[in-house]
Amino acid sequence: MKDLKHLYYFENLLNDANNELVKQAQAEGGLAIGYTCFHMPEVLLNLGKCFSVRLRAPNMGSMEIATYYMSSGSCEYSRALLERAMEGNYKFLDAMAGIDVCEAMNRCMENMELLNIQGEDKKKFFWSNLDIPCSDDEDCVKHVVEQVSRKVLRPLHENYGVDISDSEIRKAVAEHNEVCRLITEIGNFRKLDNPTITGYEFHILTLATYVCPKYLIVDKLRETLEELKTREPDKKKNFRAKVVVVGSEIDDPELISLIEDSGALVVADRFCYGSFPGRQEIELNDDEDALTQVCRRYLRDTECPRQCAPHKVQYRYDRAEQLVKDFHADGIIYEQMKFCTYWSFERTLASHVLPEEYGIPALSIDRPYRSGMSGQLRTRIQAFVESLEIKKIKAKRAAKSQEVK
Ligand code: SF4
Ligand code: SF4
Repeated sequence: MKDLKHLYYFENLLNDANNELVKQAQAEGGLAIGYTCFHMPEVLLNLGKCFSVRLRAPNMGSMEIATYYMSSGSCEYSRALLERAMEGNYKFLDAMAGIDVCEAMNRCMENMELLNIQGEDKKKFFWSNLDIPCSDDEDCVKHVVEQVSRKVLRPLHENYGVDISDSEIRKAVAEHNEVCRLITEIGNFRKLDNPTITGYEFHILTLATYVCPKYLIVDKLRETLEELKTREPDKKKNFRAKVVVVGSEIDDPELISLIEDSGALVVADRFCYGSFPGRQEIELNDDEDALTQVCRRYLRDTECPRQCAPHKVQYRYDRAEQLVKDFHADGIIYEQMKFCTYWSFERTLASHVLPEEYGIPALSIDRPYRSGMSGQLRTRIQAFVESLEIKKIKAKRAAKSQEVK
């Protein structure tokens, strides 16, 4: 296929957490608010002059110092962030909206705070550590509203004078929704029999929406959508199977590249930093305050295995099945960041439940933070692709012999 006009531009934005658009927005008076997890309602970090930056550690090499601080049993994502923080890469942040989600991230944030990674001179900087419940009933919603109001919105208002009113939240939701609409429409091209966008390209665009001020990329997203409407696919399909990738944090486009180079086109991305969930529009009514509706929405839509109530577990299996159907996938790759406790049990169970109870072939992998060069992973994915092909051939033969009868 012909290259997407802005792909190289978006790829470059992903090479540095403090990229040129982050710098531009701050030069225009913007406030960069860091976060790491879906449980922090992203849209609330985009009120007024604030813009959210979901933290990554692009091109991470050694994590020796962070490993010394946190031990090699912590997930590599949290260690990579700490290493980068100690190298001074997140000094540009104006606040950090953290979540008390897991031991690894707590230790990462705690170390960042103790080491003053934002620099000594930032008097208005604040750290938050939100307590997020593991279910989604109305008491849980109230708790999240209290946490977000006290630990994030109040300091934004008191330290930086940010307008946190209901009307400002509604405005932020409207802007957020436009990006969600664009990403959803772009993502829908993956439903085609011969998709006109690859999983890698889609991941680049989606990642950019998490790490750049949205108002500075929305024009190029609009243009990309228009371009895709007339983009011609390659005549011969250059994939052998379609897969949905489900799992923990993936912010490394090289991993998607590796999967696609192994013959499996990634047609849906249900992982942290992917578009499911996170890039679906938020609908607000006028009967209730916007803050409560936003918090409820994030709590109910999360597909994080930290939510361990039985109905949430069932919800995640059903959602994975739905993505397979909607995007015409042949199978699922369940992936997990090494040492991530939540995804280790989710991956182990789901990779049995999906094939055995839903009839969907699944491959289960764990991986380091940067895995684009892993030969072992490549071999396992190639073997999975072959098994999917064999399954399709057998199904075709069975259908033909039924016709003959
Ligand atoms: S797996 Fe769950 S806790 Fe971890 S970053 Fe994703 S949403 Fe947050
Ligand atoms: S990948 Fe897992 S262990 Fe690592 S920060 Fe996210 S939830 Fe925690």
